[in-house]
Amino acid sequence: MLNETMYGYGAESSKIREIFSYANERKALIGEDKVFDFSLGNPSVPAPPAVRASIERSLALPPEQLHGYTPAPGLPEARQAVADSLNRRFGCAYSAADVFMTVGAAASVSCALHAVVSPGEEVVVIAPYFPEYRVWIETAGASVVEVLADQETFQIDPAAVEAALTEKTAAVIIDSPNNPTGAVYTRSNLEALAAVLERENARREEALGHAQPIVLISDEPYREIAYGAEVPWVPALYEHTVVCYSYSKSLSLPGERVGWVLVPQVSEGARRVMAAVAGAARALGFVCAPALFQRVVVDCVDEPSDVAAYARNRDALTQALASYGYTYVEPDGAFYLWVRALEDDAEAFCERARAYELLPVPSDSFGVRGWVRIGYCVAYEVIERSLPAWKKLARDYGALPA
Ligand code: PLP
Repeated sequence: MLNETMYGYGAESSKIREIFSYANERKALIGEDKVFDFSLGNPSVPAPPAVRASIERSLALPPEQLHGYTPAPGLPEARQAVADSLNRRFGCAYSAADVFMTVGAAASVSCALHAVVSPGEEVVVIAPYFPEYRVWIETAGASVVEVLADQETFQIDPAAVEAALTEKTAAVIIDSPNNPTGAVYTRSNLEALAAVLERENARREEALGHAQPIVLISDEPYREIAYGAEVPWVPALYEHTVVCYSYSKSLSLPGERVGWVLVPQVSEGARRVMAAVAGAARALGFVCAPALFQRVVVDCVDEPSDVAAYARNRDALTQALASYGYTYVEPDGAFYLWVRALEDDAEAFCERARAYELLPVPSDSFGVRGWVRIGYCVAYEVIERSLPAWKKLARDYGALPA
């Protein structure tokens, strides 16, 4: 009658969504400008004007084209536009066949997981991690293996990953620029991870007599939002990489649900993975990515993100919080600030913050204790108006002299 697991996902919703709903209730009650909602990664920067222009052009199309199904892997011109853009930027030689258009990064990662993971296998995530990974991994019948990031730099800890690999490890998911820490994995860090995976692949091939490589799923919705740090192109460092992308953050289109999965078609194994991605999209009922926004991708694939707006928010927030006695990870990318809670229990800290209408997300659902995530993809004025509240909260805890 009822799938209890699905019931649980629906009834509990995510912590982030729960705080977002609470924020909306408070706003209705006491006024929009009195509540500081730092919960959701909903970009405040508007989509670039080129998006609107593209939509207006599409509106002139015959309805069966405008609103019709596209091929399941996407419009050929959208897939080609993505491949061409990646080739220009990263010096590769992809074609439309390497790209599968999806319903945002959530679908990209779900399809990638279902494509490469079988029930009973394990998927390594780097903690703290995006909480939905657990839902998607477990829905694929696999189990989550949490590996702590380096606690100073929040880079990947390659030795810890190596220690966590077993014969059941099917995939490792990374996310850089990172949600929730803002870390951008350096080239040498990614090379060290690739070396660990290559070693394990070689060991397996020796033991099994055939190749059974670990797939690296690189979830990159924040690729374009970096403050000067290099964001290395992961498939150039590790062959068995599947890249998951979306335009939710880079073009500020989270409600429109469009992205892609890239599986470079370099081997027979990779061709089978791409076929399995298509199979996963079919099995999960995605049918095709939104047609209108696939056309937006054709027109806007190289539109720059407004990183300056997020950089301004980041600078205002970090400078103020540092002066109030908070400690945090200096973000090199994405639009999240990872701040140490002023007590061990991050949930209790967030409760206390609510008294000042401050709504960060406690770290527990990201797989670690004692931190909070502040999503600073809000209007600059929200940051400015929230600063006295952050100051009072720090005073409450004695972090700042009264
Ligand atoms: N992966 C990460 C790391 C994210 O932060 C998000 C959204 O916040 C997603 C995936 C899902 O993105 P989308 O809205 O494009 O499905």
